[in-house]
Amino acid sequence: MARKSSPTNWNFPFRRVLFTWELEEEANLLGLLSSAPSLAIDKADHLIWASASTSPSVFTVSSLYSASNSTLGLHFKICRHIWNGAVPPKVSFFSWLAWKNKIKTAVFMHRIGILDVSASFICPFCCFEPEFAAHILLHCPFSWLIWSSIINEWRFSWCIQGSVDDLLQWWMAVKFKNFDRLIWRAIPLIVLWSLWKLRNECVFAEAQPSLFGLSENIKIRTALWLKASIKDLPYSVDDLTFNWRQIRGCS
Ligand SMILES: [Zn+2]
Repeated sequence: MARKSSPTNWNFPFRRVLFTWELEEEANLLGLLSSAPSLAIDKADHLIWASASTSPSVFTVSSLYSASNSTLGLHFKICRHIWNGAVPPKVSFFSWLAWKNKIKTAVFMHRIGILDVSASFICPFCCFEPEFAAHILLHCPFSWLIWSSIINEWRFSWCIQGSVDDLLQWWMAVKFKNFDRLIWRAIPLIVLWSLWKLRNECVFAEAQPSLFGLSENIKIRTALWLKASIKDLPYSVDDLTFNWRQIRGCS
């Protein structure tokens, strides 16, 4: 229990003498309390919305959005990137799971006891490394070649990122304008989803991973989904499927 002897002085009736390190903590607490706004003892207590720019403080959705944006920053930007409306919701949802490191890999299923101990937890692409999320989506030599071929077509040099979060941050930091920006931002989501779809086909339907086949599928999905979702996209499905290298900087 702490009693306030005056608006600025606090009295803590501790039951024993404080240790030296606790005195430091008490000093920190008093410093914190002294920096708090003084209370108007003669006024009734009530709730206010402190983030409002209006006076008197009124709650609005826009003020909540501004407050969240200022505190969450990058987190908000990645959410906006993932839920961009240019790709189907299933693709955004999977990308969101991957960003949160929540996809159900074989290693994860083993860990929670869903997969039997005798079941394989090896990556179905390289058939060598354990199937961790970052491995199957980024670091597996097969996945790395897919990312590298795409990056190469957009004429970048890069180093594979350590996590999906790092990947999306890097991707967002690359600035394009107009339609190129919309295409560029959809690509990592489509690649992540396509890698996982192929992974499932390998695990459950005994498909064989093919670099050429997956690369073609990624381009076809990009073309069909973006033509369907972006109004007035100036590229044809053929351009989006076969001429990626020529697209950059044309819009
Ligand atoms: Zn692998």
